[in-house]
Amino acid sequence: MDKCSFCGREKKDTNLLIAGMSGHICDRCIEQAHGIVTEELQKKGDFDVNEIELLKPVEIKDFLDQYVIGQEDAKRYLSVAVYNHYKRLKQTSKKDDDDIEIEKSNIVLVGETGTGKTLLARTIAKMLHVPFTIVDATVLTEAGYVGEDIESILTRLLQVADYNVEAAEKGIVFIDEIDKIARKGDNPSITRDVSGEGVQQGLLKLLEGSIINVPPQGGRKHPDQKMIPVNTKNILFICGGAFDGIQRKIGQRLNTQVVGYSASKEKDQIDADNLLQYIAPQDLKSFGLIPEIIGRLPVLTYLNPLKKEALQRILTEPKNAIIKQYEKLFKMDGVKLSFEKKVFDYIVDKALEFKLGARGLRSICEAIMIDVMFDMPSQDKKEIKITLALAKEKIEKINVQRLKAA
Ligand code: ADP
Repeated sequence: MDKCSFCGREKKDTNLLIAGMSGHICDRCIEQAHGIVTEELQKKGDFDVNEIELLKPVEIKDFLDQYVIGQEDAKRYLSVAVYNHYKRLKQTSKKDDDDIEIEKSNIVLVGETGTGKTLLARTIAKMLHVPFTIVDATVLTEAGYVGEDIESILTRLLQVADYNVEAAEKGIVFIDEIDKIARKGDNPSITRDVSGEGVQQGLLKLLEGSIINVPPQGGRKHPDQKMIPVNTKNILFICGGAFDGIQRKIGQRLNTQVVGYSASKEKDQIDADNLLQYIAPQDLKSFGLIPEIIGRLPVLTYLNPLKKEALQRILTEPKNAIIKQYEKLFKMDGVKLSFEKKVFDYIVDKALEFKLGARGLRSICEAIMIDVMFDMPSQDKKEIKITLALAKEKIEKINVQRLKAA
């Protein structure tokens, strides 16, 4: 008589009995075992920092290189900061007998819009497999004013972590447009500055690491919404901003610094076209960030404006390069897509001409490709080549304002 080797039920008492090499299992036991397996796997899925494979800075940079073109300095700073951050996490999960505490290495990235700040942060998060969220500092206001409370930043992080608090507490938050909460003017404000200094003060609490009560659904605080306490001590904050006009402040500082007999020599070495590379914490202060915030963002680095050569590479080289994406889309329909080489030069020239930067590459490509993509699936061509003439024809037809809005 066949029976389940796990519960002993006879075949007639089961819905299904499956035979193995030297035993049987019934449908009920399969279900129960499945439940156990799922539960165990979930437990394993819990966040254990010791299981993160800690890549070395050189390896982190190699990974970034696959997705982000140029921006060597920013990549090096980020790689070291992330490496140290995770070393620090490992240290806090163990008990060391010395009293040395490694401080958190929150980061500020300064660079024009569309130079890759968000892309860098996203790529880091992809590499680390930790919860990652992007928030826009412009929507933040002090509690009690119209806009989002500071705590909403953590609500988002909790949501992407599926409310796994432990995972969220080791996540990465990218705060975009941090420059927009700078104090307007150099004087501490007389009138209240709801979206500036007040927000900076609020943010400070998050950056320095404390336990924050987070409304799970975000939005306005609901009196009977149960708050979730989240410790921000180990959350890595990466802030980004264009800091429009900061070059002038850097220039002023450099000029006043180099008065003296060595002045002319040092001045000669300054690359006036890209002053961002000399950025220092005091420039952020002159721009209107409060010193306490600057103190909590110890890693400061910059991104270069993207020149023609970089834009050309962005179009075709990264793993997710726009052109590679089109080729893949066409390949899925069995069509081989190719481009005349001059088309790439043309796209880049237009992006520069319209002052659209890297963001513009995509909208220009879309404008060129839209008609082809509309017709291609209904034609039975095996190969399509985008020529310079075709690209020009499509772009000349399009309204530049529409490209800019995209
Ligand atoms: P930022 O955050 O600096 O305003 P993003 O990182 O959002 O800019 O960049 C916008 C888009 O432009 C990205 O999604 C990416 O496609 C492209 N891009 C910008 N800079 C680079 C770069 N250095 N390497 C590769 N792609 C880039």
